[in-house]
Amino acid sequence: MTTLAKPSSPIQKPKNVPPANYNSPIFDELGFPSDAHNLYRQTVGSMLYAAELMGLPHRVQIILAQPKTEIMVHFPVKMDDGHYRLFKGYRVQHNNALGPYKGGLRFHHDVHLDDVKSLAFLMTMKCSLVGVPFGGGKGGVKVDPRKHSNGEMERIVRRFTTAIAHSIGPDYDIPAPDVGSNAQHMAWIADTYSFLADVGGKDPSAVITGKPVEYGGSLGREKATGQGVVDTLVEMLPELGLKPEQCTFSVLGFGNVGSWSGKIFQDKGAKMIAVADHTGFIKNDKGIDAQDLATYVAQKGGVAGYTKATAVSKEEFYKTKVDVFIPAALEQMIQEGEAKLINATVIAEGANAPTTPGGERILLERGVEVLPAILCNAGGVTVSYFEWVQNKTFHSWELDQVDRELNKHMVRAAGKVRDARRKYNCDLRTAAYIAACERLNHAYAARGIFP
Ligand code: NAD
Repeated sequence: MTTLAKPSSPIQKPKNVPPANYNSPIFDELGFPSDAHNLYRQTVGSMLYAAELMGLPHRVQIILAQPKTEIMVHFPVKMDDGHYRLFKGYRVQHNNALGPYKGGLRFHHDVHLDDVKSLAFLMTMKCSLVGVPFGGGKGGVKVDPRKHSNGEMERIVRRFTTAIAHSIGPDYDIPAPDVGSNAQHMAWIADTYSFLADVGGKDPSAVITGKPVEYGGSLGREKATGQGVVDTLVEMLPELGLKPEQCTFSVLGFGNVGSWSGKIFQDKGAKMIAVADHTGFIKNDKGIDAQDLATYVAQKGGVAGYTKATAVSKEEFYKTKVDVFIPAALEQMIQEGEAKLINATVIAEGANAPTTPGGERILLERGVEVLPAILCNAGGVTVSYFEWVQNKTFHSWELDQVDRELNKHMVRAAGKVRDARRKYNCDLRTAAYIAACERLNHAYAARGIFP
């Protein structure tokens, strides 16, 4: 495993932290929504604060503040009972200065254009920070996968692929799984695309990552985001005075990211004592076995009813004293109210944008460290990059090679964030954006802006 030199003194409370309602002049220039609760304004606002602090050129700020392309499609699909339903889908291509657009597809009943734009923006930042040759994109379909049969989901996924097929491609825009989508969906997308696209005899399966291992997927991709969360924790906790093997932790959201973070952190010796998902909140001070809970959730659909822990209220879940709190559900779940309750030393953002600026301000004032999503959950896209490389070169990597290369990327990215934090005396999110923007700025300086 790679280790970079650690700072000689523990991290001090930062001087430069964004105000809760940060108001960049770029907001007015580009006509951003004035609603301070708007997710896109919040996520881009954090980057613009960092951009101002580092002196990022105005032209790069305005380019990064908006996506290059926003695609919205509507498509009809036949349901099992013979009637037709119209679905809405999105693909947002935020930036491709560093390489092809890259980012997941979310299948959720409550997905909106602003969410997809925010997530696409975060992908640009994440790919830049973790040093993979990709830009940022994101997509989704307004659908609740739990309410559809396998056959209906297959028709929805294939028809959505048809609707966006001309806008994606192995060298242009490469989707992946996100909330509500899985390896089977990725296989249907790759298969549909391979019938539609004229790729001149090349293998078209590199159009998407997160595929099943039997069909071009990479070993280690399913656990990759959780693995990256834990790699980040192992790298960052010691300088915060914590030993991973002695930590207690709680997890909000026990799907792909939450369950793998839980299992892998537990394998390092940490103890999971509280978990929440869309079905309920559970707690056991003696520890909840993450593997056993994951098996239960796979069978029952959620943590509710798990008998080896006690059902607790939302408030009690957040108030549970832990060393590390891992949000791994949806955006904006840690607002001011939750931030006041959380009793943790470190928040490791497995989810994208789980902490609002108002919530973060309270956490920072209370001395809680926030390891930002663009660092913490970059493991998923990093192993997606490895999958894409394997597809393109017709090679298969062993799991230990995937894990080793992933760790190298995570450790390097964590080092960049630490360096920026020391140089700019700022919080870790601002530092992560500074590190991400530096690489993008160098790319724009080298490329220039056509014409
Ligand atoms: P998932 O669908 O596998 O799991 C989502 C979890 O969130 C489920 O446990 C669900 O019960 C829970 N949840 C949903 N609504 C909730 C609510 N209101 N209260 C409490 N819990 C709720 O999704 P995932 O792939 O694990 O993604 C989780 C987060 O991680 C998302 O923000 C996603 O964008 C981000 N992410 C995922 C990946 C990846 O590789 N899957 C990579 C990077 C970031």
